[in-house]
Amino acid sequence: MNLFKKIVSLGKSLFSEPKKNGKPRKNGDAQRRGKKGRPSENASNSKRRQREEQPSENRQSRGRGNARGRGDRSKRSGEIDVQAVAAKPRAPKPVPALPDSAELFAALPEFASLGLSPAVLAAVKDMGYSAPTPIQSKAIPIVLSGADVIGTAQTGTGKTAAFSLPIIDMLGRPQFEPRVLVLSPTRELASQTAEAFGNFSKYSPIETLLVQGGVSMERQIAALKSGVDVVVATPGRLLDLNRQRAISLKKIKWLVLDEVDRMFDMGFIEDVSNIIRYCPKERQTLFFSATMPDAVMRLSKWALSDPQRLDTGIVQNSPADTIEHFVYPVDGIQKYDLLIEYLKSITFDSLIVFTRTRIDADRIGEWLIGHDYKVSILHSDRTQRERDKALSDFKERKTNILVATDIASRGLDINDVQYVINYNVPEHAEDYVHRIGRTGRANKDGTAITLYSSDETMFLRRIEDFINAKIERRKLEGFPYRNEPILVEETKKHRKRNR
Ligand code: AMP
Repeated sequence: MNLFKKIVSLGKSLFSEPKKNGKPRKNGDAQRRGKKGRPSENASNSKRRQREEQPSENRQSRGRGNARGRGDRSKRSGEIDVQAVAAKPRAPKPVPALPDSAELFAALPEFASLGLSPAVLAAVKDMGYSAPTPIQSKAIPIVLSGADVIGTAQTGTGKTAAFSLPIIDMLGRPQFEPRVLVLSPTRELASQTAEAFGNFSKYSPIETLLVQGGVSMERQIAALKSGVDVVVATPGRLLDLNRQRAISLKKIKWLVLDEVDRMFDMGFIEDVSNIIRYCPKERQTLFFSATMPDAVMRLSKWALSDPQRLDTGIVQNSPADTIEHFVYPVDGIQKYDLLIEYLKSITFDSLIVFTRTRIDADRIGEWLIGHDYKVSILHSDRTQRERDKALSDFKERKTNILVATDIASRGLDINDVQYVINYNVPEHAEDYVHRIGRTGRANKDGTAITLYSSDETMFLRRIEDFINAKIERRKLEGFPYRNEPILVEETKKHRKRNR
């Protein structure tokens, strides 16, 4: 098959994925509310949930079709005159003096043995790391060897350093054009990754730029004009900049696709495929995904060349041993009251409540504030400033409850979250593992509970199948249940035996 045919057939197979997010959004907010304005407990369909988390810049980009469609859009108003954006010539980045190499090697023998240079080791030491995590031990030498990598690493395993340390090592002197591109599904993950690149390149002269929607484009254009080495981006904004010729991807030598399954879920795959096409074929590609469904595998086959597989030894579909998790059956109408009573029954200073919809997140967040809890609210309809503030307030413990949609279920590195409460049973079984994985991190104990009403039975079954375990049902003592919660559900086998 010639190259053209191959690309066309690959494009067809990629784009023949069900368009999860392609339909116009219905104004169904009113339907989603229950009596007295409480969030409805009806299980909504998965498409709606997927649309929920589209960051606004990417919602715009969906349905634009192919690259030509995007080109047509350049005549729209609101475009920026890239030429007119003023940019200062980039001053050399001030880099601290390197500590003695022998001391660094002695302090970090395991990191040193992976082949990292003193400039990177010094930054690792400043981060307070003493030894590499398993994924770092495996990935760093492979990445340094120049091979493509396909990894099923989960967040929380030290994945960011596993790819950023060797890349920084190989970057060398700055060249004032992006040579590294990291694509992240959410702004929060992108911002976390850009911060990690900044920290790990403390002793290296390279500059990192975060390219995300929801914030000024002029500043990003000015920074690109001044010259950056690493771009960490969400797909929508990156394509907008590319379309306006504010960024060139022609010099990309390292392409990192992070949380690829999540990008699929969020409907970005067409954008991601186009971005890959804009990058040179001669590049090193690192591909990370928590799960590897068929569509993700297909993309990896197309985007990677002779990749090395990375297995972090983690069973992907089981929650960490440090998390105890329970299901609290309750009538949908009483969920909110049960949530409040549960919160009263525990002491905590860091707790996340996950909701299915943005409107539920706002509503529950506001009610909790009404109950004198200190609450941050995080979802994709909030402005970038609000999202940043919500996260920083929660991380700095100015608030002790974060009410969030699934935008916070993956990747976010928030320390010491003691409790996770699923206000709804997640529709996607993997989301359950990701959500409850926000607690019980770094060998700390954590508790996760899921409020479950009978119309969510199908989702709960799917989760139990996925993790291959029955989740213990619990009852909150002293709570005035309208109907006695069912703690032991009859299974078919059970019924047969008792006949
Ligand atoms: P990640 O999986 O990349 O989101 O990393 C999760 C957390 O682990 C972050 O807070 C990192 O700073 C931290 N971390 C990464 N590598 C190490 C290491 N080798 N030693 C200690 N902490 C680490």
